[in-house]
Amino acid sequence: MVPSSASLAAQLQDQLAEGHPVWLQVGRLFTGQDTSVPGEGHLVIDRETIGYAGSAAPQVDKIRPGQTGPDFHLPNHTALPGMTDAHTHLFLEGGETDTDARSAYLKLSPEEQLQHATNRLERLVAMGITAVREAGDKVGVGLTLQARYRSAARGIMPYVDAPGAAINHEKRYGSFMARPMEEQGSPAAAVADRVTAGSHRIKLLATGIINFAKGTVTAKPQMPADELTAFVSAARGHGQQTMVHCSGNDGVDNCIAARVDTVEHGYFIDREQLARIRDLDMVWVPTIAPVQFQFEHPECVGWSPEVCDNLRRIVDDHKTHLAHALEIGVRVVAGSDAGSHGVAHGWGFIRELELMQDAGLSATQVLHTATGAGVDRMGYAERFGVLAADAKARLILTSHDVLSSVSHLRDKKIVVFDGAAFGAHEPESVPGL
Ligand SMILES: [Zn+2]
Repeated sequence: MVPSSASLAAQLQDQLAEGHPVWLQVGRLFTGQDTSVPGEGHLVIDRETIGYAGSAAPQVDKIRPGQTGPDFHLPNHTALPGMTDAHTHLFLEGGETDTDARSAYLKLSPEEQLQHATNRLERLVAMGITAVREAGDKVGVGLTLQARYRSAARGIMPYVDAPGAAINHEKRYGSFMARPMEEQGSPAAAVADRVTAGSHRIKLLATGIINFAKGTVTAKPQMPADELTAFVSAARGHGQQTMVHCSGNDGVDNCIAARVDTVEHGYFIDREQLARIRDLDMVWVPTIAPVQFQFEHPECVGWSPEVCDNLRRIVDDHKTHLAHALEIGVRVVAGSDAGSHGVAHGWGFIRELELMQDAGLSATQVLHTATGAGVDRMGYAERFGVLAADAKARLILTSHDVLSSVSHLRDKKIVVFDGAAFGAHEPESVPGL
């Protein structure tokens, strides 16, 4: 008899609680280290770390003395690493689609916004999102959660790293998440200010956003190439990466000239730029979901059919470039922009992965962008996102065929996280994300 997810999760948690290594044999072991479709495999984990992952049975020094077979033989299950959403705004509730309610939410006190964000954390882990890279807020939610993650009494929460307040220019796009450079007066001083506040990386707003009504980026970039270069150089001086909000072809050019670490969004990117991003080992985080939402739910913002057609064309073009990027070997990392209008934390990330598969990527290519594609490049403080010896013991077990369709991430699954195992299934209709 195949045990239910909940009872399998309970058995796993009981075994891990005994403090010894637990050996799992699974039908398919997706390690997150490449995009190939895997076969059967073995995992040995304890409450903190993966001791072994591979297609052959573990050596005796990895398992309990005298053990001759796996603790769990799960031939119908696929194991994959816990996922990283590389672009989130935890202070915002993306699933709230009513514009008045969204405005009211922004007026909540920082303490209230922190409480809402805190309520999301365990739910994200149970959904399989075991790490997030925050993309900026000026109310301190990201930095507080980053500090909490690094504290002894953190409870169940994803790995968080955060840039604190993003940096923009006065009277330009982004004031809901950024503070202007003019407050400190120079790129170096603004970067130093964020580092002092506790940032793990520096978020820059190099451009505005797509003018949805006009279907193009109408504003000139906020940060010219030389200024962006000064920001990047200041950040590197503090040992920090730069994550750069950017849409519009000229803005992407500026990001490339400045050799930023990650290009966020990158709408209107072209093929030549993608080749340069690959050659410079920069990262692209395409964030399809927030724009897709705009034309799929025009009733939420009142878009006309013409505007929706423009937005659909922009997203189609973005998806074509995403497929091309994978073909030529650009390092693409998945991020949802969760917290944006219509992009709920957790579910919005799965939606992002579905849209990436829609673009023509294989399910394993998509899962790689959500797991191992970023590990050696993104400057995270811990090793996760791969099923490999010495990485964090955070993984998903599912009997659904996620290696053919990432939509199956929506189905019931087990998430193992630092000795805890979650097997309950929360429907998408539960609010608060
Ligand atoms: Zn964002």
